Amino acid sequence: CMLISDGIRAAAGRTPGKTAIRETGRALTYAALVDRIARVANLCHAGLGLRHGEHAAVFSANCLEYIEIVAGMAEAGIAAATIGPAAAAPEIRFICEDSAARVMFVSAALEEAARAAAPAGVQRFIVIGPAYEALLAEASPGPCPVAVDERDIFSVPYTSGATGRAKGVRLAHRGRVLSAYAMAAEHGCYTPYDRAVATTPMFHGAGFLMALTPIFFGGFVEVLPRFDIEALMGTITRIQATSAYIVPAHFAALFALPEATRAQYDVRSMKAAISGTAPLPQAVKERIVGYFGEGVLYERYGTTETSIACSLSPPDQLRKQASVGLPYPATQMKICDEAGNAVPQGEVGELWVASPYMFSGYLNLPEQTAAGTRGDWFVTGDLARQDEEGYLYLVDRKNDMVISGGENIYPREVEEVLLAHPAVAECGVTGAPHPYWGEAVTAFVVIRPGMTVAAEALAALCRAKLSRYKVPKEIRFVPGLPRNAMGKVLRRALKEQLRAEAG
Ligand code: ATP
Repeated sequence: CMLISDGIRAAAGRTPGKTAIRETGRALTYAALVDRIARVANLCHAGLGLRHGEHAAVFSANCLEYIEIVAGMAEAGIAAATIGPAAAAPEIRFICEDSAARVMFVSAALEEAARAAAPAGVQRFIVIGPAYEALLAEASPGPCPVAVDERDIFSVPYTSGATGRAKGVRLAHRGRVLSAYAMAAEHGCYTPYDRAVATTPMFHGAGFLMALTPIFFGGFVEVLPRFDIEALMGTITRIQATSAYIVPAHFAALFALPEATRAQYDVRSMKAAISGTAPLPQAVKERIVGYFGEGVLYERYGTTETSIACSLSPPDQLRKQASVGLPYPATQMKICDEAGNAVPQGEVGELWVASPYMFSGYLNLPEQTAAGTRGDWFVTGDLARQDEEGYLYLVDRKNDMVISGGENIYPREVEEVLLAHPAVAECGVTGAPHPYWGEAVTAFVVIRPGMTVAAEALAALCRAKLSRYKVPKEIRFVPGLPRNAMGKVLRRALKEQLRAEAG
């Protein structure tokens, strides 16, 4: 039986006095962490009367207490329904109602928002701070008398809803533990001698795993409450970090810093800078290799449902352009046509993934679970192809495909052409409703500060690089793009805007 807290407890047995987690100057030793995990479990079970199989909501930015709360609840058989700190009242209500949470653990900064949202069913708000500490002090630090199995649900992050209604993704202990092992095998940066920085939001499946894995193996993690590129780089330098999960939006922020600022940081200790969640343009990869050195950059692909799926390791970064690599251990992939048959090698199809890291279905959505799975396989919704060596190349998300004049257009291909222009900082491509074409390719472009470029010049660049039907029919200059908490551009929001304009 493999439980998340077993790894932390094993580490505490070896090095009880070692610091496990630190956040804004506050720290917990391993001994304190396992004591607090046990107290949270007993608080949930005996104090709050929550029962095995129930959910409780966690609504907080990244903080020192986040891991002990989620891991402690899970020891009592209670899965955390995690809510992002930027959630609006309807989203807070939706997650609480969907998960039938009776209790919410909430940070002091978000207490007002939580109470104002007034989620039906939540009877108790436990505010992280003195009130929470008082409850922990009363709770027993002994073993929680609930029998928990590795197939029990550990947490329920909600997908950000880039493709529709937010879905609760049920993640079991077993998949989380095995994901941690697979990451340790692939990235080589999770030993008791390693130090990580966790800056991506922990309400998200990947963000939580990146904070948990270092301490699962007895290392150290510094948790940053929110993303700030200077805080991230300063922390890497100060703690001589060996790993960090740095998503493409973070790398963009890093390279937008003045050269002199970037030169102040010391990244020589880094063994693994792991990117994921969104495409990393090749030009950025090259800058990363130049800045962090060879042997450090990993690009990872996965979804909340599959957890980790594949990774491109450092030696391949410049050799396998635009690839997201090879499957993690024990992961199978196939690329299928609409009928579910594998397409010939090299052709584009929908990616299916099977692995021991996989989710246990969506919460309360048996039809969506059935639609998204085929036996052990998860149908990712991503279009991809594999080369002759088995390396995976993501083409785009199936739902983001634009169909114009009967031709399929992958927005990502058009975005990459636009991003290659030196004046283009960011862009998002989607389809606008069009009476003749069905959809008209439309590009939203953010220009770098202090630079200018005419729409016609960008259109000419597209005409030079792309088939005519892929060239945007309209290029709009905008101050910024809608993004989710992981910094991923929300093309669906752009599409909705265009639909609203068309009436
Ligand atoms: P929703 O599932 O509701 O649309 P989401 O996009 O935020 O929300 P996640 O599970 O967080 O859902 O993201 C998974 C998706 O992110 C993948 O299906 C893929 O399209 C994209 N993705 C993940 N890693 C990479 C990567 N390395 N390169 C390009 N895209 C990636």
